[in-house]
Amino acid sequence: MSASPRIPGFRFLHSPGPTRVPDEVMHAMQQPMMDLMDPRVADLVADCEHGMRRLLDADEAHVVFYAANGHGMWEAVTVNLLAPGKTLLVAGGGHFSESWTRQAEVLCGAVSGAQVQRTPYREGHPIDAAAVEQALRDDREQRIAAVAVVHTDTASGITSDLAAVRRALDAARHPALFVVDAVASAAAAPLAMRALGIDVVMGASQKGLMMPPGLGFALVNARAMAWTEAHPGPRFYWDWALRRSELQYRKFCGTPPLAHLQGLRAALGLIEQEGLAEVQARHRRLAGAVHAAVQCWAEAGALRLHCKVPQALSASVTAIEVEAAARARGVDPEAIRSIARERFQVAVAGGLGPLAGRVLRIGHLGDMNEAAILGALAGVEAAMSTLLVPYGRGGMEAAIASLAAARGARA
Ligand SMILES: *Cc1c(COP(=O)(O)O)cnc(C)c1O
Repeated sequence: MSASPRIPGFRFLHSPGPTRVPDEVMHAMQQPMMDLMDPRVADLVADCEHGMRRLLDADEAHVVFYAANGHGMWEAVTVNLLAPGKTLLVAGGGHFSESWTRQAEVLCGAVSGAQVQRTPYREGHPIDAAAVEQALRDDREQRIAAVAVVHTDTASGITSDLAAVRRALDAARHPALFVVDAVASAAAAPLAMRALGIDVVMGASQKGLMMPPGLGFALVNARAMAWTEAHPGPRFYWDWALRRSELQYRKFCGTPPLAHLQGLRAALGLIEQEGLAEVQARHRRLAGAVHAAVQCWAEAGALRLHCKVPQALSASVTAIEVEAAARARGVDPEAIRSIARERFQVAVAGGLGPLAGRVLRIGHLGDMNEAAILGALAGVEAAMSTLLVPYGRGGMEAAIASLAAARGARA
């Protein structure tokens, strides 16, 4: 491949992961490597563990880091919690619950009688907590070991209500562990592990944590740790219990990903500096501007917000659906994406799984501000204009008004 010519100015990255990496994080990742017995390594790891507990309001939870992405973390959760004859109940909610289910089904093959069950869901809607409650009530023999919940389904731009899942577990009086995939929500949306009685939270570095891909984490409380200890299985690298060591080489099952840990410490420092509440308010504010623009664009009838439940609209990413009739007339989200990226320097994401070719997604999480959001929306609008996509006018004005009102309310 020939070298691409330099593009002047910024290229806007609005994928919901990987997201923009701040310079502070990039620079931190360029620190020299250290000997593993250097006390600075232990300090670095302790700072990262402490920061993750604060981020997720986890208090005592054991923090396990892996050189892995989100799929690795699904595997970590699954192999630590599966046991012979036991079931993993995945709360259905979209593409990511589907992918987790498929992965867990394969892993179940190695554990006699282990099963995965997924609750039904409706496209465009968050997790159906009543369906989770029913599945738990129907489980009279208490085979369900854990309920696996994707907090924000990145494919549909929908954030589910974790408190509703907590209530479902309580109402059914079921002792199953409560496990949350926070890959797309950590830092961007409130997630209080302790207050909601969540036993395991897992995530990865490249979304709200503003880092390159490659670092996975799991916060494991005492109840989940006791479960995994009581149910040994064919696992080693992923094993939570084996990683409870003061020796870094054991704690990481080998050499720690030092550069990523340096990056994480810097990223957590940035979040701490801004204040977690403000980070989350900023995500809400920016998401509100995107939603306002899309609602305006939708007035011409060709596209709409994919999420049908306003309070479930994600603070991290917005999925814009092209209506079937408009698709039939040739409006193609992939064409909009391609023009936005190649002509207007705005990279947005496309549809995944059943939403492929039906949606485009604007990521608004991580190291993001008002100007970036307005630029992204303008780039998408310019691409739609180029392609003669019918869209309601005034989207940019609506986004600006939304941002102006949100700031005003704060000041
Ligand atoms: C991105 C994502 C994943 C998968 O993460 P990878 O790092 O791509 O493996 C899993 N769950 C959710 C909710 C995600 O957004």
